Amino acid sequence: MKFGTKLIHTGHEMDKSTGSLSFPIYHGSTFHQEDIDQPREYDYARSGNPTRKALEETIALLEGGDHGYAFSSGMAATSSVLSILSAGDHILVCEDVYGGTYRISNNYFRRFHMDITFINATDLDEVKNQIKSTTKAIFLETPSNPLLKITDIKSVVKLAQEHGLLVFIDNTFMSPYLQRPLELGVDAVIHSASKFLGGHSDIIGGLVVVKDMALAKRVYAVQNGFGAILGPQDCWLLLRGMKTLKVRMDYQQKNAVKLAEWLTRQEEVSHVYYPGLENHPGRDIHFAQADGPGAVLSFTTRDRERAKKFMKTVQLAAVAVSLGGVETIVSYPVKMSHASMPVQERERLGITDNLIRVSVGLEEIDDLIADFKRALTI
Ligand code: PLP
Repeated sequence: MKFGTKLIHTGHEMDKSTGSLSFPIYHGSTFHQEDIDQPREYDYARSGNPTRKALEETIALLEGGDHGYAFSSGMAATSSVLSILSAGDHILVCEDVYGGTYRISNNYFRRFHMDITFINATDLDEVKNQIKSTTKAIFLETPSNPLLKITDIKSVVKLAQEHGLLVFIDNTFMSPYLQRPLELGVDAVIHSASKFLGGHSDIIGGLVVVKDMALAKRVYAVQNGFGAILGPQDCWLLLRGMKTLKVRMDYQQKNAVKLAEWLTRQEEVSHVYYPGLENHPGRDIHFAQADGPGAVLSFTTRDRERAKKFMKTVQLAAVAVSLGGVETIVSYPVKMSHASMPVQERERLGITDNLIRVSVGLEEIDDLIADFKRALTI
């Protein structure tokens, strides 16, 4: 079955008992047990809930995994995966991860004596050189946030397997439609489902998918133990939103290609970061591991003043954090997603005060370009 068909025929497209084409929302927090010696599948909704299970099985199917887990946010998903590790474990984290991942790695997990090294994961020699006897896992995000840097997933997995390490990846920017890291040997895929999976800027959620049973048990122990689960109403919203993932992504990606190409020709724009552009570093690697460039791009303006003016005067796009919704969203990483990163670190990475990130939406591209043109030249 092809991906677009899978999105509609997940095994949960219908409520088997009534024929309803919308999966029921089970609000029950607890479940009556007819026989205490024969417990039912569900007992308490932190441990399991039928609507959540439908979502968890759906994302597992789409990612090509065996076990899915739904969390109350993308950060809850990331934190829960990192929480399967222990004090003293060393983790390599790619240096331009989402700002929130950077923040919890630095400010939280280090307090629990996890040893964290930020690395440029696009440089395989650096990855290799940073592995030590206590290293247990590598955390990747590709394309990265916000500079769309590309990491060679297969090569990192090979290195990791040689050293017995786990590989986790934040697949939020791509979604399983464009990139399925488990097929490349990654151990756990993480999503902020608040983005392309939900698709309508109306839900905060996180998802994790793994293949290996032993790893699944470790993730489930944290999900059930910490309890950062996604509620049934939000599970349903996500199940609904995901049905249109392919059509949304196809259209948004087409728009993003056109917008990126147009931006490269603008005098006020000094650089465009987008894997869909011919000169984007790592483009060939990206297209060997993903089925499209996605719908997120970043660009720099000639200077900070122009970037600020653009953010003030752009009209069609929402000025907001987040991405992946039906509406175009522009964000200013220095003050938004990466505000918690020290200035020197940001500047070293190229996250400068003239950088703007764009999540391209479903508007007509001519209208978007006209709006961007006005905001770049006003
Ligand atoms: N990963 C990426 C790539 C993100 O962009 C975000 C949020 O912006 C997150 C993780 C965190 O997800 P959430 O906001 O759902 O906690």
